[in-house]
Amino acid sequence: MSLDPTLVSDLQATLRDVPDFPKPGIVFKDITPMLADPRLFGRVVTAMSAPFRGKHITKVVGVESRGFILGAPIALALEAGFVPARKPGKLPHRSIVERYSLEYGADGVEMHEDAILKDERVLVVDDVLATGGTAEATARLISRLGGDIVGFSFLITLDFLAGAKRLGPDKVTSVLSF
Ligand code: AMP
Repeated sequence: MSLDPTLVSDLQATLRDVPDFPKPGIVFKDITPMLADPRLFGRVVTAMSAPFRGKHITKVVGVESRGFILGAPIALALEAGFVPARKPGKLPHRSIVERYSLEYGADGVEMHEDAILKDERVLVVDDVLATGGTAEATARLISRLGGDIVGFSFLITLDFLAGAKRLGPDKVTSVLSF
């Protein structure tokens, strides 16, 4: 049971569907109207953190770029460190890379090689779970560094794309699903 029973309906009224962006056939879930509302943004951070309270998370990995916006306050809420998982070529220090295919293209994700220590308890955060390729590649980076993936917290899961199956459904939480 949600501790915030009107959160789902408030989000449904606030999030914006943008058809055919960034390419035909994709309905883009635009979270910027939610981010612009400080109370709603705060409720989202509380709801996305809640399943992982008391789970001894030491690092929250946010996936570029909306995963940074959500992941940083979730890390603070869980008293964990924040780690950015970035598009290739953006990080300044020695990094490791994983490639993946996306709902709308192919890409890669990188993390600093010292971002996660062995046996750290890690939560992965992003706005939307679509095919799961991005989150799965991020999980591979974390595993390569010896981190223990406790779970994945998304604002939205697009269930028809079955991304959660790739990540392990018991590890995936979201506020909204379509
Ligand atoms: P995927 O790897 O297919 O799960 O795609 C997830 C990544 O692409 C996330 O970083 C999302 O922000 C972004 N993404 C994929 N589909 C959408 C969508 N329909 N609306 C907004 N963002 C999306």
